[in-house]
Amino acid sequence: MTTHYDALIVGGGHGGANAAIALRRFGFDGSVAIVSAELDPPYERPPLSKDYLAGERPFERLLFRPDAFWNGHRIELLPGREVTAVMPSGKTVGLAGGDTLSYGVLVWAAGGRARRLSCDGHDLARVHMVRSRADVDALRAELPSTERVVVIGGGYIGLEAASVLTKLGKQVVVVELADRLLARVAGRALSDFLVAQHRSRGVDVRLGASVLRIEGEAGAASGVRLGDGSFLPADMVIVGIGIDCCVGPLVAAGAAGGAGGVRVDEYCRTSLPDIYAIGDCAAHSNAFADGAEIRLESVQNATDQAAVAAKAIAGAPEPYAAIPWFWSEQYDFRVQTVGLALGHDQVVVRGDPGAPGFSLLYLKAGRVVALDCVGNVKDYVQGRLLITSGKIVPVDRLGEPSVPLKSLAG
Ligand code: FAD
Repeated sequence: MTTHYDALIVGGGHGGANAAIALRRFGFDGSVAIVSAELDPPYERPPLSKDYLAGERPFERLLFRPDAFWNGHRIELLPGREVTAVMPSGKTVGLAGGDTLSYGVLVWAAGGRARRLSCDGHDLARVHMVRSRADVDALRAELPSTERVVVIGGGYIGLEAASVLTKLGKQVVVVELADRLLARVAGRALSDFLVAQHRSRGVDVRLGASVLRIEGEAGAASGVRLGDGSFLPADMVIVGIGIDCCVGPLVAAGAAGGAGGVRVDEYCRTSLPDIYAIGDCAAHSNAFADGAEIRLESVQNATDQAAVAAKAIAGAPEPYAAIPWFWSEQYDFRVQTVGLALGHDQVVVRGDPGAPGFSLLYLKAGRVVALDCVGNVKDYVQGRLLITSGKIVPVDRLGEPSVPLKSLAG
């Protein structure tokens, strides 16, 4: 038997859960279901590398909504079911195990899976990812028997994990291939600040370091061999090297795009009829990247695209135009980013980049296109106005912390 849903959402993460919530908010009255490969009801992912990893927040406080909400809004949760095939001609999807579901509209919100290393030892016990609750529960279960941790990848998730584990008293080494942290997304001053913060708390940050293999004893990781031959002993290895988009069934069904993301238009419509895609797996043209096609891996993007898709489905379409933002928490400071620094040609440092309370402003052709603010909420809030105003502002004024950014936005 094939069960039919007027709106079928694949993935119960930030995008999927918010799409369901937004469908009801915008008056969609048909049947709605969220089919998710995970066993848990929809929950927030950011705490997984922050207070949930630290053991400071119980899982119940990660849930987007209590069970009663989903029932009360006639949103059916189908956990532990993976969609393995999409058949656009018959408007059905196939599930692992053989069942099928049919849909009126399909919202693909399947995110990504943590990318695995391909080197020897990547599949040993005590090698962990940080993508799902199950990943973090498995990692946490091993913490009592862990002294030394090697984190492979100096991106936000690796750095957040390093900061939590350091606070828990573990000896942490961060191995990063690039010559600085966050080289792809942040200016050098932020990279330098983060290296200094981690090193000052005892983290051994190795830059320009490649991983040759993970070595093991009795089937479990015992350390990481680097490209220069050195060996980092470890009781646990955490791999934070990005994600691979979960788009296989959709691409196989003929959706434009590929392994790097499914292509969507400004209403989050894929090239297939009545199929939308949102969140980490959706490649879209972004106004804040001068229209370039990008993917964003952020709560902001997943939530805002969920609303865009829901509005289009509910019959009140509005194009995606949200300004990107992101945050990270490490030790006792917060990094907040707004806008996109892609293609910037100038960076202005505002304040002392040696301690929290400073900002980096990224400019392109004289206009501020993005900010990284460290412990500086005021600049983060006011800098957003500066970006959206599109004004050309004298650089010496931008770099003067006593001049409020809002006064420059006009
Ligand atoms: P996801 O939330 O990944 O949800 C996708 C869901 O789809 C998953 O449950 C997956 O199991 C399921 N799925 C996949 N394939 C299938 C299938 N074939 N069938 C059925 N179900 C399927 N962003 C920020 O802005 N700030 C932060 O501080 C921040 N911290 C983060 C920390 C961690 C540890 C992680 C992992 C992410 C963090 N992010 C952060 C990123 C943010 O969580 C993601 O951008 C967001 O979750 C993307 O939402 P999504 O719905 O696209 O995908």
